[in-house]
Amino acid sequence: MFDEVKGFGVTLKRLMMPKLVIQYPEEKRPMADRYRGLPSLRADPETGEALCVACGLCARICPTSCLEMHVVPSEEGDRELGEFILRSGRCLFCGLCAQVCPVDAITMSREYELSVMERDGLIYSKTELAAIGAQIPSWWDTGTNPDTDSRRPEGGRYDRFRDHATGYRYE
Ligand code: SF4
Ligand code: SF4
Repeated sequence: MFDEVKGFGVTLKRLMMPKLVIQYPEEKRPMADRYRGLPSLRADPETGEALCVACGLCARICPTSCLEMHVVPSEEGDRELGEFILRSGRCLFCGLCAQVCPVDAITMSREYELSVMERDGLIYSKTELAAIGAQIPSWWDTGTNPDTDSRRPEGGRYDRFRDHATGYRYE
């Protein structure tokens, strides 16, 4: 008997409290600064060129092997990225690919509404990934304040890489 009264007490208490229901999708909860959504590809804001140097590190570290890239010879006789495929149905959104990238070319976006009717829709190409991530800040650079965070050096990893890469050729 006492348990029932106690149960009704909880119900009455909840009735008086403000409602916690969110009318999704019209309303959305605030996101954490470093929320990990769909991995996406970034581009240099000045030239618009993809930052990816086709080193393959992200594909090697990916625990589910959902990244695939095709490297092609460039006009300068070098190598460059041909196609970049993400099979998002297998992606864990772990962020390891973004952590390992030496030039911050791949980053975690804030895209999470990814349901599709066909399985093919879970496969993203380089163009699609770049459309999502081209100009978003690096995942590592979000959530830090450069004016107050003394641990963060000047510029992103890409800036430092570019500054030191003059004359370097990828074999
Ligand atoms: S977030 Fe994790 S699982 Fe997804 S592509 Fe990157 S490394 Fe692979
Ligand atoms: S680790 Fe970065 S630079 Fe290397 S292939 Fe992946 S996205 Fe491109």
